[in-house]
Amino acid sequence: MSELVLHPTRLHMRKHGFRIVKPSAPLVRYWWGRVSRELWDGNLPQPTKISIRPDRKHWAWVAIYNDRPGEFDLEMDDYPLVKKRFIEVLTHESVHAHLWVAHGDNRTVHGPAFMQFRHRIKRTYGLKLGKDVNV
Ligand SMILES: [Zn+2]
Repeated sequence: MSELVLHPTRLHMRKHGFRIVKPSAPLVRYWWGRVSRELWDGNLPQPTKISIRPDRKHWAWVAIYNDRPGEFDLEMDDYPLVKKRFIEVLTHESVHAHLWVAHGDNRTVHGPAFMQFRHRIKRTYGLKLGKDVNV
């Protein structure tokens, strides 16, 4: 009742966060859907195209095109990583995607428009919104 109820995704990360996962398009679609529902009121569409391929420079990348408003592609490095980091990377990318889809913002990198969502992400998932340049 008055006990603190842990968010299901926080609970999931607590239980399974250190398992190694291999990025795949279905796994990205599943977690992107959850992030959309849990952080963006279900208003964040799925990526038009998901590419999982060796990169080694970026964990993931939201690719936007000025002639395709409201949609985006998601590219992700195929290197296995722990589940918590996987969710953290998608959460980070979801902020970039939100700024583009909802505001047509194609310039923001990790400035104030981006960082304003750090409280929401901390409150909901207990994750930090990182400024890593590699995501
Ligand atoms: Zn970023």
